[in-house]
Amino acid sequence: MNKNKRKIKKKNLTIFLLASVIIFLVILFNQSGKNFDNGVSFDGVSEDYKCPDCNVIIITIDALRPDHLGCYGYERNTSPNIDRLAEQGILFKNAFSSAPFSGGSIGSLMTSLAPYHLYVCNCCKIGERITLATRLRENYLITRAIVDNSHFAKGSGFERGFEEYIEGSNYFSNGSSITKIMLDRLQKDQDKKFFYWIHYIDVHAPYLIQKDECNELLSNINSVHIPILETNKRYGGIPKYATINNITNFDYYICAYDKAIKYIDEQIGRLTKRLHELSLINRTVIIISADHGESMGEHNIFFSHGFSLNDVELHVPLIVKNPKLITNNKIVNDQVRLMDIGPTILDILEIRINERLDGISLVPFMLGKSNTNLSVISRVGDMISIRTDNWKYIYNPNGSEEIYNIKEDPTELNNLIDKKQEIAKNLRQKLFKLMTEARNDFLEPEKFEIDDKTKEKLRSLGYLQ
Ligand SMILES: [Zn+2]
Repeated sequence: MNKNKRKIKKKNLTIFLLASVIIFLVILFNQSGKNFDNGVSFDGVSEDYKCPDCNVIIITIDALRPDHLGCYGYERNTSPNIDRLAEQGILFKNAFSSAPFSGGSIGSLMTSLAPYHLYVCNCCKIGERITLATRLRENYLITRAIVDNSHFAKGSGFERGFEEYIEGSNYFSNGSSITKIMLDRLQKDQDKKFFYWIHYIDVHAPYLIQKDECNELLSNINSVHIPILETNKRYGGIPKYATINNITNFDYYICAYDKAIKYIDEQIGRLTKRLHELSLINRTVIIISADHGESMGEHNIFFSHGFSLNDVELHVPLIVKNPKLITNNKIVNDQVRLMDIGPTILDILEIRINERLDGISLVPFMLGKSNTNLSVISRVGDMISIRTDNWKYIYNPNGSEEIYNIKEDPTELNNLIDKKQEIAKNLRQKLFKLMTEARNDFLEPEKFEIDDKTKEKLRSLGYLQ
């Protein structure tokens, strides 16, 4: 008996030792296999993400839906250059804006404040809030912006902190001239430390389209046709401002949207090529995102945005390429917000600030070390929503409520307000608590003066009747 027991013990010990050696070898193999020369980046292990000497470039593309980019799974080759950045950087699969329109979303991005602290309606000022550009300029970065969207016109406050602030001149087909200016600035600033913000408008309706592009689709007899609306109203047809040559073919507009994305992707390709040529690529953090999405017929809204809090209008791409953290197609699935971009940049650049912001650094998410579940608060007018990982709750100005199980019903067609009263109540309370607590800090939006030329531009984009 005793002899047998000893035999079993000895056998167990051998198995234990063998297993330990195997585990040790597996760990060693995995680590050496995932190391990179430039920075270190195996999932969740490296802390070496800081880059105090880095430049920063934020590129925002108006109305760009993530699901029309290759790196987010789109079947058409719309975005080879953006895809390459995503491969080397970190792709946030679930990034959301705090508003479905430019002013509100970029206002939140540039101040890192949620819409219960700062609500920037279109043609509104961003108040006296400190901007990311101000913080970076105080830390000795050259700050330049070129923005092709009249909601960011000088006088809106978006220019605060930028020593050079260029407004796009032609509004459409302008991506190329914007890029040309930025390439020139790169040449000038190559020995300095800089922050650039570039905003392209070409993917905004009416979508940029070259003559004859997509024309082959017009002869398809199986095409779906959408009525053209007499006005810029958003429901049930193509708003007047978004129509191209009175065409009603649905596929044609999708094709035009995709061509516009490809065009902007080429601009990004030009920028990254120059960063390589000037040897700046290894000390520049590049961030690609959008201000909001675009409705492509969802909820009966065609080729437009700005009037609903549906995911298609709030879901945005977000790619962060940090040269210290070269990755191999790293994807973060956690829900994050545009307002988190500022704190992330400050974290990477090792800049400390005293104020409390609503946004937080996304670095722990990039390193796979965050346990935080972030909620997204979004707002348009008096309609406000809170989005958790599973639920979207919307409070409408007339007091009516909506709640969607976004995991099971991502198209948000099935309002469960009668069935999910308890969940709705909790989310409503959370939302109202945040708004009540922030009431003393909240700044009422104030319109800024717009000249006739700007008014005309806004009219062409459907913002004024
Ligand atoms: Zn926009």
